[in-house]
Amino acid sequence: MKLHEYQAKKLLRAEGVRVPDGVVVSRPERAEAAVAKLKGPTLVVKAQIHAGGRGKGKFLDGARRGKGGVAVVKGHAEAADTARQMLGATLRTLQTSENGQTVRKVWIEEASRIARELYLSILLDRARSRLVIVAAAEGGMGIEELAAEKPDAILRVALEPALPGGGWSLYVARRLALGLGFPIRSATAADFAALLRALVALVQKRDLSLLELNPLAVLEDGTLAALDAKVQADDSALFRHPDLARLEDPHEMAAAEREARIHDLSYVKLDGEIGCMVNGAGLAMATMDLISLAGGEPANFLDVGGGASQEKVEAAFRIILRDRAVKAILINIFGGIMRCDVIAEGVVAAARARGLRVPLVVRLEGTKAEEGRRILASSGLAITPAEGLHEAAVLAVEASRSAKARAGRGSAGRTR
Ligand code: GDP
Ligand code: MN
Repeated sequence: MKLHEYQAKKLLRAEGVRVPDGVVVSRPERAEAAVAKLKGPTLVVKAQIHAGGRGKGKFLDGARRGKGGVAVVKGHAEAADTARQMLGATLRTLQTSENGQTVRKVWIEEASRIARELYLSILLDRARSRLVIVAAAEGGMGIEELAAEKPDAILRVALEPALPGGGWSLYVARRLALGLGFPIRSATAADFAALLRALVALVQKRDLSLLELNPLAVLEDGTLAALDAKVQADDSALFRHPDLARLEDPHEMAAAEREARIHDLSYVKLDGEIGCMVNGAGLAMATMDLISLAGGEPANFLDVGGGASQEKVEAAFRIILRDRAVKAILINIFGGIMRCDVIAEGVVAAARARGLRVPLVVRLEGTKAEEGRRILASSGLAITPAEGLHEAAVLAVEASRSAKARAGRGSAGRTR
């Protein structure tokens, strides 16, 4: 789960990390009053979307069309104006899709007197099972280019998790401080050591998988301040941090993903045309392979889990049907703990409620499979039963092809 910059800065501030004073605005009519709380004259107005590269990004519409998502402005009136222009407009950056993202919140902060911009991040290196600190003296925008052109300029230190303090030590801090160009006994080096200690503690305490400050700025007075902050919390640990979970911005998630999250379904949208509902990740993967083998493309990965309820099955069905690219649905269930009759009830209920706009192929095997098939057969719905896995995949691919052919003829007819 990603946090917005303003949310990340609040977490940092609570740990004693220096961040500029600022306010968040989501309603244009509040911009003026919010900005009045800040010391001017120079202010920085920053679009809040879950994508980096905002500074070099471009608005695709509105009064700021062609301009970037980070604006350094003179005076409160201009700050409020800029915030109003960003709200509701679409910002495209290297990290968004071609269509960009709608800006629903803007963070406005007091400008900093920057002497130097650094890069600093702590992230979970899954291959090493360690937290790794990554730092570079040349921070700010374009860390990806730096990594490509001058890989040696990027410092990496893996933390030893068995050590107290999560592996933070004065040695680690000094080694990095030296690499970043801070004289050993300088106040800035001491400031950096304290900052690093706080960041490592924060990452551990809140189960973060990424904490990135780009830039971490050395200000003209020699102190350090986080001018940008990106935080990713580990989804699997969110149950331990209900306060973090509440920070999730539902607008930044696709509707289908949002519903899948609510019902605890593993769902990944893909590019194909055959919607899949399967129980168990392994069987879901095998089903996707069989669809490909039969000449089709899966529209999604969807694992309803081992002991799904009727309600969960209904939600899964709704999620699949919402995807307009879906031309046929394949339900493949191996009943173990999961009972096939429960699945069948869920499918019938959802199909009745939503209407079945595409062909549905169902393969049920295992616990209560007979009962399940009977429920489907007596539902009066146009459901194609399948026996084997391969047969099911072939039937689904054929059904999607003929559905596409029909749709093609239909639209050709309408254009006349
Ligand atoms: P990003 O492009 O999405 O990574 O957004 P950033 O928050 O990193 O902003 C991009 C650039 O804007 C930074 O590298 C800074 O050079 C500049 N910037 C951000 N905040 C301030 C600030 O408070 N004062 C000044 N002068 N520049 C800033
Ligand atoms: Mn940045």
